[in-house]
Amino acid sequence: MVWQRPDGRQPYELRPISFHPGFTRFAPGSVLTKFGDTQVLCTVSVSEGVPKFLAGSGRGWLTSEYRMLPSATQERKARELLKLSGRTQEIQRLIGRSLRSAIDFEALGERTLTVDADVLQADAGTRTASITGGFVALAYAVNQLLQQGVLERSPLTGQVAAISVGLLQGEPYLDLNYSEDVAATVDFNVVMNQHLGIIEIQGTAEEGSYSRTQLNQLLDFGEKGIQELLIAQKEAIANWDQLVVGE
Ligand code: UDP
Repeated sequence: MVWQRPDGRQPYELRPISFHPGFTRFAPGSVLTKFGDTQVLCTVSVSEGVPKFLAGSGRGWLTSEYRMLPSATQERKARELLKLSGRTQEIQRLIGRSLRSAIDFEALGERTLTVDADVLQADAGTRTASITGGFVALAYAVNQLLQQGVLERSPLTGQVAAISVGLLQGEPYLDLNYSEDVAATVDFNVVMNQHLGIIEIQGTAEEGSYSRTQLNQLLDFGEKGIQELLIAQKEAIANWDQLVVGE
């Protein structure tokens, strides 16, 4: 039996992806990111100073906070319950680690970038949309800080994007939506840089196990999705050539 995708996509096809920069006004980076029906508002703010362990080092820091809105899912969840669940902590740490891989913290100086990922609508793949859109928001924030003279040089050393992949009926599928995520026996998230170097892989067998061959197939699908996302990010970021240095 072959899995029929509810939206008729090919197994290796992404959902329609879009980035909407300047979605809100006050944060230097604000990008509404859509992967099909998944919608995440990614905002990047900057503050002077760093956590204690970096004080006096001359180096900056990037941290992330992730939340779903109460009505982001099919059944409303109380705000209290959405606060700091294990899932929330895991996701916000993943977003922070992923985006930190693209930053030269000496160039940032003793400042902290905070990436807020607020999920307006969750149809699976919210963490990967947060990372991919978070990078676009980060570039917009850096652009503004350069223009304001807060930064002398860009701290962006590369690009980061992420996508989900899963196994359904033993076969790989790219960028699962919620009904697929529920049916998948293996749930995979891949984070890569502009050289398709692996930053992080999360790959969980929800049922049974998966083989080395299937792992390679999942990575091939992830890589293909990320190649497309890297292009979409580049197209969404103004002043790309001045922003991303050291590629
Ligand atoms: N989900 C939900 N309630 C929850 C957690 C998740 O409805 O408390 C749904 C939501 O659509 C989410 C999907 O399940 O996008 C997959 O969640 P997962 O934890 O795998 O993370 P994601 O794929 O969003 O990164």
